[in-house]
Amino acid sequence: MSTETAALDLKKTVNLPKTRFAQKANLPQTEPARLQKWAQMNLYEMIRQSRAGAEKFILHDGPPYANADIHLGTALNKILKDLIVKSRTMLGYDAPYVPGYDCHGLPIELHVEKKLGEKKSSMPPLSIRRACREFAANALKRQTKDFQRLGILGEWENPYSTMSDHYEAETARLFARFVERGFVYKGARPVYWCIHDQTALAEAEVEYHQHASPSVYVKFPFAGDPAQIDPALAGRKVFALIWTTTPWTLPANLGIAVHPDYEYVAFERGEDVYIVAAELLDAIVRLCARGATGKDAQPEGAEKQSAVGEISSPRILARFPGSKLDRLECRHPWIDRASLLMVGEHVTLGGEADAEVELDVADAREKSQTSKAGTGLVHTAPGHGHDDFVIGKKYGLEIYCPVDHAGRFTPEVEHFAGLSVFEANPQIVEFMRARGVLLFSENYDHRYPHCWRCKNPVIFRATPQWFIAMDQSGDEPTEKDEDDRARSNFTSNIVGGELLDAASLRGMALRETDDRVKWIPAWGRDRMRNMLKGRPDWCVSRQRVWGVPIPAFYCRDCQREVIDAGIIRHVADIFEQESADAWYKREASELLPTGFACPHCEGSEFTKETDILDVWFDSGSSSIAVLESRQNLRWPADVYIEGGDQFRGWFNSSLMVGLAVHDRAPYDAVLTHGWTLDAQGKAMHKSLGNAVSPDEVIPKLGAEVLRLWCVSSDYMDDMRCSEEILQRVTDGYRKLRNTARFALGNLDGFDPQHDTVSAPELLKIDRWALAELDSVVTDVRAAYEAYDFHLVYQTLHQFCTVTLSARYFDIIKDRLYTFAPKNPARRSAQTALYRIADALARMLAPILVFTADEIWENLSPNSAATIPSVHIAQLPEVTVDDRTAELLTSWAHLFGYRDAVLAKLEEARIAKVIGSSLEARVELSAGSHAYAQLARHRDDLRYLFIVSEVELNEPHADIGADELTVTISRAHGAKCERCWNYSTRVGESSRYPTVCERCVRALTEIDAMGNLS
Ligand SMILES: [Zn+2]
Ligand SMILES: [Zn+2]
Ligand SMILES: [Zn+2]
Repeated sequence: MSTETAALDLKKTVNLPKTRFAQKANLPQTEPARLQKWAQMNLYEMIRQSRAGAEKFILHDGPPYANADIHLGTALNKILKDLIVKSRTMLGYDAPYVPGYDCHGLPIELHVEKKLGEKKSSMPPLSIRRACREFAANALKRQTKDFQRLGILGEWENPYSTMSDHYEAETARLFARFVERGFVYKGARPVYWCIHDQTALAEAEVEYHQHASPSVYVKFPFAGDPAQIDPALAGRKVFALIWTTTPWTLPANLGIAVHPDYEYVAFERGEDVYIVAAELLDAIVRLCARGATGKDAQPEGAEKQSAVGEISSPRILARFPGSKLDRLECRHPWIDRASLLMVGEHVTLGGEADAEVELDVADAREKSQTSKAGTGLVHTAPGHGHDDFVIGKKYGLEIYCPVDHAGRFTPEVEHFAGLSVFEANPQIVEFMRARGVLLFSENYDHRYPHCWRCKNPVIFRATPQWFIAMDQSGDEPTEKDEDDRARSNFTSNIVGGELLDAASLRGMALRETDDRVKWIPAWGRDRMRNMLKGRPDWCVSRQRVWGVPIPAFYCRDCQREVIDAGIIRHVADIFEQESADAWYKREASELLPTGFACPHCEGSEFTKETDILDVWFDSGSSSIAVLESRQNLRWPADVYIEGGDQFRGWFNSSLMVGLAVHDRAPYDAVLTHGWTLDAQGKAMHKSLGNAVSPDEVIPKLGAEVLRLWCVSSDYMDDMRCSEEILQRVTDGYRKLRNTARFALGNLDGFDPQHDTVSAPELLKIDRWALAELDSVVTDVRAAYEAYDFHLVYQTLHQFCTVTLSARYFDIIKDRLYTFAPKNPARRSAQTALYRIADALARMLAPILVFTADEIWENLSPNSAATIPSVHIAQLPEVTVDDRTAELLTSWAHLFGYRDAVLAKLEEARIAKVIGSSLEARVELSAGSHAYAQLARHRDDLRYLFIVSEVELNEPHADIGADELTVTISRAHGAKCERCWNYSTRVGESSRYPTVCERCVRALTEIDAMGNLS
């Protein structure tokens, strides 16, 4: 705008935007300042007070493990929780947030052991516990700082930690509850065992990786007269053929399982006769041929000619169902003992049938996924497998486990004593080959369980452990065996959803999963069901020191265990005062009630259990230990949200504790979020260089960008992240920020209390903008209620970039800038802008916690005084108006015509007919319908198109009803020096000779207020 000739500085009469809300966010600097401000004003407490008495909404925090700094996955998890808490707060609920930390357990203990090195073996448990506690406390402190930096509000000064005195006491009390209800027993059954860390592992503590094992086909000679099976076998040398990938479990073989209904065949191979499942016969004959070359695992092409005959036609001597073999006997291939033939439904023709149970892998038991392997006769070692244990119990076999804590064979194992089981594998294979009992062997790649900490392969091993029974009814005395010990409780896995006992933990858990809990996304229900159906009894003992000790005692006289709810509660009261360290500080007599005598033998001397509880028991206790213990919370929680690994972890253990205490789930809804991956969809690893780490992103881009990334796609799927992806998110942030800035800048001088224009007085275009806002508010509220945060972002992003920036703001600029400041038409636009900015701040607040508060602060000194932070405010509500829908439809038509005009203007610009659109005159010829729409807005059209002149011709019979032809020419008249519009009336005013008639009016108004120099 040139001002050289004007006596008046016209530029100064234009209302240019003015705001302290900066264009450049400077998030890495401004965020910490705002956090400090929040801390000073005690914002979290103010929010609590503002919601006092409102309906409660409880998100219960799944405690992250306090052993390392946070990574992108932890940040995603905590930000999603914060989004839920903040959005429910803004929906009017009282939603307190108490963060938690999981502090006990193996990873910390291992870390401390490594630091202590040699010293460790000579250190008493108490010193190790002290070192662990210190380590966890430090990690907890660092994590807290990092979580706060993300803008997450909560009780950071008073979080829950599983190692606090109170929590340890509560954990023990909850264990007492399980004991009281008869769910707890001590027994030997196989559990995952890490020979490196020398401890039992929970199902949630193993992960599956590829592993090469020797696959062996072994001959077990039939004992007795084979005519018992079929007369055709009389007098023959018959062998049961078994297959296994764990040769080291063969010394513990006590039986062979077959399926009662499958057909088995006895086929001839030279002198020998082998029994195998009929369906696998061909495959086995092919293996025999490969074995016949004298070398294992030769490629098929190397077969000897002589073997080919066997391939095509094995001679079958007999066919019979598996049930025919029930309770007959074989001999162990080299140890002088029997191997009992048994029938079991667990026998499959799939390869992994005799291997480990996989609890978390949907396809693990999917038969069609598994290649056919094996023989249909399953080598059974009850001390080394879950199915083996179950069937072994049924047939009265010993739970035999000749392998020690370090994974070495005990002295009783001839030939292999002292060898570690993995070392022994090849030696056992060689040994069997030399003995002639090995039919075939090769290397076999398969999924195999590994320890989640040390990444070594684990084994299944039966040791005396404490268990929580999954299939025993509560509230009845535990069944005792002849030694008055709780009888190991077992059942086979439930098949087809048939329940043995609705009052058992498994029965109740399935009921809650089906009937009560809302799973989001819905596949969570099946995932949980499968987990519950497959899990064996919960092994809760760990041979470690950093945790809550299992408060059991052993009588020195009769050696029996004392596990009693009353005594455990007595011990828990001591923990409450002195922490669980008391278990290690005090003698047994100082932990037991005075005068306590053994209920079995009246003995008075006791020793203490040395095992601790599984950490999943600790964290599973949190709903009771935290929600019930704290006044401002309540049990059960409305929602839990964690990653998918928690189906076998925290979701599961929490459910068990809830059932034991209140017979119901501790949560009403369970949300699952995806994993964080790199741009290519691969897992992030520091070593691969594809890891995006919060402590690198935040100093560069701010926590706000990380928060926006969390809603940039659907968190229920996996979330990809990379520098490039974050760059796109940053662009998205800028668009939102610029939108807010435009609104704030043009609200300078607008006092909502005095200057608001009443709804009927608003200009049509402003009414339209508010109708659009209302529809956005409706969508955003619904999306927040459904936890669909990415829909919130999509809706707001679309609203800001299309509805506001590309349309509304463009159109009202002229009015905002050039009309007299207090002109009612300008006030009308500002009224709309104020409501838009106010609503944007509220709707963005759960996501952009810093920026929304900054918008709020700059919005109006008044609102900031009554509600000092946007986080205390509520989400905007819709002003229901019958005409909203009609208004939106009618404007949708107009914007369609506008798009047509803008396209023509662009053509004219390229053809150099016009420069800026204000140099244009638009002539419209419309059909009857289009004409009617346009005519209703006749006076607004030039503003809508941002041109100086619009000519709307009378409806044209030759043009289709909805059609429109657009002709662009240069506008008549001269350019107004103030508003740049063209007008034939520039120069009419002698006082303001260079401006148009509209500007003359504006300048006169401004002058009248004495604002012109
Ligand atoms: Zn390990
Ligand atoms: Zn006794
Ligand atoms: Zn003008």
